[in-house]
This record gives sequence, C-alpha cells and structure tokens, in this order.
Amino acid sequence: MGRRRRHQARQRSQALAYRAAALLAVGAAVITGALMALSSAPRPGFDGVPLRIPVLPRLLASVNDAGQIEPLGMVIPPDASRRPPSWPPALLNPEARLRWGWDLSLGRPGSREVLFTFDDGPNPGTTDRLLPMLARANIHAAFFVCGWRLESSEEPLRTRARQILRDTLAAGHVIGNHTVHHLQLPTLTPERVRYEIEHNADLIEEVLGQRPHLFRPPYGAYSEDVRRHLVSKANELWMWSIDPHDYLLVNDAESVAQRVITNLGNHAGGTVLLHDTHPWSVAAMPKIIRWLERENADRELAGRAPYVVLDPARYMEGARARLPLIQAADALLNGSNPGRHRDAGPDATAVEPTTGVMGEGPVDAGVAMDAAMPPARTPMDAGARD
Ligand SMILES: [Zn+2]
Repeated sequence: MGRRRRHQARQRSQALAYRAAALLAVGAAVITGALMALSSAPRPGFDGVPLRIPVLPRLLASVNDAGQIEPLGMVIPPDASRRPPSWPPALLNPEARLRWGWDLSLGRPGSREVLFTFDDGPNPGTTDRLLPMLARANIHAAFFVCGWRLESSEEPLRTRARQILRDTLAAGHVIGNHTVHHLQLPTLTPERVRYEIEHNADLIEEVLGQRPHLFRPPYGAYSEDVRRHLVSKANELWMWSIDPHDYLLVNDAESVAQRVITNLGNHAGGTVLLHDTHPWSVAAMPKIIRWLERENADRELAGRAPYVVLDPARYMEGARARLPLIQAADALLNGSNPGRHRDAGPDATAVEPTTGVMGEGPVDAGVAMDAAMPPARTPMDAGARD
C-alpha cells in the first residue's frame, strides 16, 4: 500500500515536471519567435550591404571611469558595478618574473576580456589617427611608448610627439614604458639598461607630470638586469597574449584585423599587441571593432558571454584572478614544494630568439594559449625556468 502511494506520488511529480518543462519550451519558442521576427528587418551593414542584425544588438561593452557601461554597451562585465580600481594598482608581479608577465597578460581566466596595447609611439601621422577611433568605441588602451621622439632635435617631430602623448593621456589611456630607443636590452650593459628605462620614464614625466607604472621590454627580450631594475622601481611587467605580427603585414590592414580576430576567438580574449607606428595597424582597428560589435550581437542572441574590452586597470584586476593558477603552475614546475620559486626571476636571462628589426618579440610569444591553462610560453621561458 505504502509502496503504491509512493509510486503514485512519483508519477504525480513526474507529470508536474513534464508540464513545467513543456511550458518552458513553449515560452522559449514564443520568445525566440518574437526575437526572430524583430531581427529580420535588414539594416545597413558596415559596408553598406544590408546585414541581418539580431535585435537588441549588444554592441561593444566597455566601462567608463565611473564604472558604468557607456551608451552602446548593454552587457555588464563581471565587476562593472564596482568602483574602478585605482591607478596604479598593487603590483601583480612584484618579482617581475618573465613567465608571470606572459601568463598575466592572458587576463581573467574563463573570461572574454580584452585589453588593447599599442607599442613604439607616439608617432605623428598614425597615433593621432588612432586616438579618435578608440574614442568613438570608448576603448581605453595601454600605450607603451619609446621616448626618442620626445627629445628629438627634429621639429615638428618633437613638438607633435609631445602633444600626441599629452592627448593620449587626456583621452584616458595608460602610458607605459618601452625604453627610449627600442634596443635589445639583454645586449646592453647594466648602466645602459638603467638609462633606457629610467631616461624614458624621465621623458614621459617631463611631458605628462607622471612616471609610468607599466613596462614592456622591446622584442620581449628580457634579462636579469632588466628584472632587477623593474623590481627596484616597482614597475609592472606587462607582456601580450595576442600578436598579429603587424610589422610583417605591410599595408595589409585586413590581414592584421583577421589575425587579431582569429586569435581573440581562439584564446577567448587577451592582451592584444599592435603598433601605433604602422598605418595598416591603425587601419585594422575599425575592422576589429566592427567585428567585436557584430560578434557580441550574435553571442547575445545565442545567450553566450560577450567579449568585453576593458581599460588597463580593470583588465589587470581581472588578471589578479589568474594568480592562483600561476602559483599552482609554479608549484608543479618546482616539484612538490610550492614555497620554492626556482623559476623566474633571479636566473632569467633571455635573448629574443628571432624577429624582424621593427617589431615585437619572439615569433610565437604569447600565442596558442587556452585561457584556462597556465602555459609554458616561449623559448625564453624555458631559459627562465632554472
Ligand atoms: Zn616595441
């Protein structure tokens, strides 16, 4: 008898569950149908070709200084509601370890957060064309600058470069240190390393009234001298995870954009390296921005998480969540004793393997990383491990 009653009760609850599921399915179908109907109207696409744009397009999400979503963005990133982190943030990588620099550039694990970085400027004719593009999309990037133009004896180069640097800061971007002359730091004496970093910081301070907090070595080439210097100055080493090798793609903005887009997809976001000294890299930005807008609109319709372009402070705050992964990787690399950090630092001496003269870094610096995996990175890292 008891068994039979239990059986009836189970049947009743199953029937209720089926009914609820059916109601949900009908509701979903109605909503989807409504969305499809609304979305079927063709609208002008970016080429003037009518494109089917899903309803309620979730355009590029980015956050203003008050921590609010800017007009077009309707997708709220994880901590957009919180106060913006102060600048500079507390050091993520106080020992300035190279491998940590690469890993942190991947950003928040499991997110699609994106940070744009532009190296080697400020360059009249290109950087000044990039700034309005970023402003229109409400993107705040990091610019790793080389100060040689700021003290050039050539005019109007010097004056224009200084004005562009002021404009870059005024537009809300962060200025980082990329040395004065863009040399291979591991080939220099300790004195010259110090000069390349500190004199660049002096030049930036002279123009802007503030010293840079972020540092990125030219070509990604690192040495123990550089590391020790960064530690002594409490500078944050910031590398990149997406490198389209734009310096090789002369006059080919389409390929630069495509490589960035492909890598953003493969790596689910990350720190993008571009050079604001190349016209084709600047011309790639509107293409990348349009792709992000359309991709986010599609993702929104499909109920998938959007890409979120963040300013450096928020991106780095997200990267802080990666520290436990990095420390776990350290523990693996260093055997069973997580307290011993044998990798990294003190022995990191690396010369960049191969690269062009103009551009950045080792050929696959920072590619091929799954956002969830603490990676082994470049040939340099192998050197840095012991
Ligand atoms: Zn560079």
